[in-house]
Amino acid sequence: MPVSETKYIWFNGKFIEWNEAKIHVLTHTLHYGSGVFEGIRCYKTPKGPAIFRLRDHIERLFRSAKAIKIEIPYTIDTLSDAVAETVKVNNLDECYIRPIVFRGYGEMGLNPLGSPVEVAIAVWPWGAYLGEESLKRGVKVKLSPYTRIPKKAFPPNVKVTGIYVNSILAKIDAVMDGYDEALMLDENGFIAEGPGENIFIVKNEVLYTPPDDSTILLGITRDSIIKIAENLGYKVEKVNVDKDMLYNADEAFFTGTATEVAPICEVDGRRIGDGKPGKLTIKLQQEYLKIVRGENLDYEFWLTYVNR
Ligand code: PMP
Repeated sequence: MPVSETKYIWFNGKFIEWNEAKIHVLTHTLHYGSGVFEGIRCYKTPKGPAIFRLRDHIERLFRSAKAIKIEIPYTIDTLSDAVAETVKVNNLDECYIRPIVFRGYGEMGLNPLGSPVEVAIAVWPWGAYLGEESLKRGVKVKLSPYTRIPKKAFPPNVKVTGIYVNSILAKIDAVMDGYDEALMLDENGFIAEGPGENIFIVKNEVLYTPPDDSTILLGITRDSIIKIAENLGYKVEKVNVDKDMLYNADEAFFTGTATEVAPICEVDGRRIGDGKPGKLTIKLQQEYLKIVRGENLDYEFWLTYVNR
């Protein structure tokens, strides 16, 4: 589906028209994947649009930049304000938000340090990443033949553009085989994550998710779900999950900013539980959606309102 265009993009400190946000073909990041990015959502709430866990996302953007030695020429506060402003000038109630920091046009070759650092923030309306139906009926997943890039090759807890080719390979392979989504294993054969999602399984009402030091991005939705589940009285264990644990789980689901909370109903043609979205999954999904929509004020500290 093509991106739904909005009016303005924040580009190096200024708002410009959507169609004017252009770059040179010799942009360093286009060739070598030397950029970092974030994916954030803004939801409609009773008090106007609110961005979910904005500061956590911007802090992760700075951590990603540090990992590849990019010095972002703005502060965390400036970029957080710029994100909120971008939502505001585009007059949107709900949207996806994509900040990207990249190495621009200057020098070629693998040493990126001579290329300028550029920053853009785009926002656009974007429904559930795996489809609206995915939230209700669940998704069919294929265990990917592509291993998640091992830690020894690249730090997993960063959103660096080039690294997403690993996810792209897994995604294409799964989609071409008729599945909704892929699930990547780590180099030791444990479950790592989806191309753009973290995973949880449920067995006997206990939640399991791969540990913080495993080969995964530490998702902000993952962290939110852990806190929400624990506050509801459920136990969450961060442990290595193998294929058997997954196949024999009562429930499984993906989490991610774009994906939200998507039940997994099948893996490699094997039903998870009874093949329908699990009870606890649905409960957590509904709780999450209430929180992001500002309907549970116990979690209001996660929201940044965009005052119009
Ligand atoms: N893993 C990967 C590889 C991702 O790209 C994403 C999306 N950012 C996630 C997990 C989920 O992270 P979050 O909940 O912060 O969106």
